[in-house]
Amino acid sequence: MTSTADISKKTKPQRRPLRKVEDAYLWVSCGGVCSFEGCNKRLIESHSGDLTNAGIKAHIIGHAETSARHEYMEEYGYTQETLEDVSNLMLMCYYHSKLIDDEHTQEQYPPDRLFKMKEDHEKKVTSWADDKKKKSIALIHKRLGGPISDIEYDGETPYILLDAVEDQTVFEDFTDKGWKEAVKRNIELYEKFLQKIKEKDANIGEVFALSPIPLLIHLGSLLTDTVPYSIYQFNRETQLWVSDNPGSNKDLSLTVSQEIKGNLDLAVLISISGLVKLKSAEETLGNDFDFISFEVDDPGLKRILYREDVVNIQSKIKEGVEKLLQKYDYEKIHLFYAGPAGLAIEIGRGINPNIWCEVYLYQYNNRTNPKYQYALTI
Ligand SMILES: [Zn+2]
Repeated sequence: MTSTADISKKTKPQRRPLRKVEDAYLWVSCGGVCSFEGCNKRLIESHSGDLTNAGIKAHIIGHAETSARHEYMEEYGYTQETLEDVSNLMLMCYYHSKLIDDEHTQEQYPPDRLFKMKEDHEKKVTSWADDKKKKSIALIHKRLGGPISDIEYDGETPYILLDAVEDQTVFEDFTDKGWKEAVKRNIELYEKFLQKIKEKDANIGEVFALSPIPLLIHLGSLLTDTVPYSIYQFNRETQLWVSDNPGSNKDLSLTVSQEIKGNLDLAVLISISGLVKLKSAEETLGNDFDFISFEVDDPGLKRILYREDVVNIQSKIKEGVEKLLQKYDYEKIHLFYAGPAGLAIEIGRGINPNIWCEVYLYQYNNRTNPKYQYALTI
């Protein structure tokens, strides 16, 4: 054992920063997943804000003279400089990077064991399908219910997550000024996201959103087809983000009804997680509007959490509305929406400014009159 006095005398060797290609290689070969055997924690390459699942580059043979396994340096053919080579680095979650270095547990992790772990993990990642090896940037829009610090998925890792941009400040200012400010923030967030995609050469956008509906629809309307998106919904019961789930609500049916009287305003009523009553739209708009209503049988909070249903419903709504837009000359569309966050984003994505006229969005509040209050226009 070295005494504290000895340690302070030793100069800490300078670490060579990883080259960009080495960094990228390390991330892709680890698949963005903790390399410790049995740990499947997904990691983020570099992290913005408060997200905690940033990956740690752990040394198999420690770099500093007093660090774990440093005494094996020569035996394994390394020099102080080459210890920074990717062959000696493993990507790990915070917990496991501490575990292999901790003075009480490091004995259990000699170099041979860790090199083997690294090799096995990288072999597993190599066997992944190409689709799973795509690189993603996360876009986190959580302006309801407080921030998340971890992105936890339900199920297997779909892509290699490189980085995240986020807006997790709780939205509280429901005034005109508040909505305008939020729209500005949406645009800024999306610009940051596009920049990251370019910077990191990513192929996918993973969207994690739980925010007031008008902001989600607006965010959706900003998403261009620069990259394909994977949009997740937050399952409040499990606190996990979900996307695909084969065999979910396949029997889901959507009832469409409409009333056309030749008005200039079209109300679009979407009832998925709750019922949007025609009366509520009348409270907000008066009586001079046409409407089209989309309603799932038995609307409820747990309806459509999964991608298949979201895509299915979104396309039906888009088709229904656009049919009317081709036939009649509306000046305004008023969107009244009770549904999950992921679908709100998809509906926003489906708003084609070349076909749709101005879309007015409303925030629901049970305690106000009218219950649907104007928020913003896209
Ligand atoms: Zn781990």
